[in-house]
Amino acid sequence: MGSSQVMRGGCHCGAVRFEVVVRDQKVSRCDCSICTAHGFLHLVVPQADFNLVSGAQVLSTYRFGTTNSEHRFCRICGIHSFYSPRSHPGYVDVNVRCLDGVDLVQFDVVPFDERSWETNVEELRETLDLNPS
Ligand SMILES: [Zn+2]
Repeated sequence: MGSSQVMRGGCHCGAVRFEVVVRDQKVSRCDCSICTAHGFLHLVVPQADFNLVSGAQVLSTYRFGTTNSEHRFCRICGIHSFYSPRSHPGYVDVNVRCLDGVDLVQFDVVPFDERSWETNVEELRETLDLNPS
């Protein structure tokens, strides 16, 4: 795996802008209803690796079903560029399709079963060595 890279991204209209540190080239394609509809490709990063540069005031939140996740989207253009998985505080889930000039070839897209979320996040924590205790 290569070194980390700071990438910029945002929504379609440009109101929402963020920077994210990309350390892992592996992204997940979730098969749940909303992610399928959006074509959301997940890059889960610790909060510290994500910086919302602008757009906090235009973000709206969509919740559905029993999920605790906040699906945040730009209320001007409707694009979901990232969200906060509330079941895993401290992480931000970025849609790599919303990164500037992204070449999806640079990512390794892995099919992702929503029910495996816990397992995947645990693996991610180990990869990133976020459990210092
Ligand atoms: Zn927008």
